[in-house]
Amino acid sequence: MRRADAVLVHTSAGKDSVVALHRTVMAAKAAGCLDKVVVVHADLGPGTEWPGVRELAQRQAERYGLRFVVVAAPGGFLGMVENRGMWPDAARRLCTSTLKRDASAHLYTQVATALGLDGQALLLSVYGVRGGESRARALKPVLSIDTRASSGRRLILSWNIIHDLTSDEVWQEIRDHGLEYHPVYDCGLDRLSCIYCVVAPESALILASRACFALGLTAPEVYTELERRIGHTFKPGITLGGVVAAARMLDALDGPLTWERGDALRRHLGEDAVQEWRRNLALAI
Ligand code: SF4
Repeated sequence: MRRADAVLVHTSAGKDSVVALHRTVMAAKAAGCLDKVVVVHADLGPGTEWPGVRELAQRQAERYGLRFVVVAAPGGFLGMVENRGMWPDAARRLCTSTLKRDASAHLYTQVATALGLDGQALLLSVYGVRGGESRARALKPVLSIDTRASSGRRLILSWNIIHDLTSDEVWQEIRDHGLEYHPVYDCGLDRLSCIYCVVAPESALILASRACFALGLTAPEVYTELERRIGHTFKPGITLGGVVAAARMLDALDGPLTWERGDALRRHLGEDAVQEWRRNLALAI
């Protein structure tokens, strides 16, 4: 970290990102180089993410007095799907490569140019990727050279700073340090992804639809209309039309989805954790 010319923390504002950010800040403070740290958020476009994600990412950065930068690809997620006439899939996550990686590449150029170094700049890119999330992520190294983004002008190192943490350990850090997390976790969702994520299981898509109904969001209509227009199903064997119909049926049977602030912590760590988190959050602000 001392050797790096800049440290870029890539954040979705999700639970793993906020813990990765906190750990990066602690490491940078210990190394005496907090001034090198910049927080980067990739905006996936209107109507794609849960309300308040970008603002939350900014608050999470500002808590430590860090510079906050937003990168965005033109058209966003929905524009990309409309143009291609297809949804991305798990094998070809064009959404991640186009909307996040390519958008960040422009930022690397800007940062390296602004540094004005004679030689190659060393940029340390930090991610909240955990090995426990999937087999593919388990195989990712903790530290590696990003050969795709590196060039003669810049060497990019990728650091998966919380690669070894479990989901419960992430929630423990959120409790212990009073880190602000997005309220959508409280309704039972485990990831702060796009409202409809192409790698989410069907159960999560149904839950997301019910959360949209409760919050009065138009994503279910917008996405199902797009699916109908392009004639390509959201996931192999799963249509969003079917997902939304299943969500409506569950709402009719069980009533609308309800949740309270702190339910995610309650679910993972118990009632005491909610009180502790509230105390720590109040002290941190
Ligand atoms: S959250 Fe899912 S759908 Fe959204 S960009 Fe990431 S992989 Fe793609």
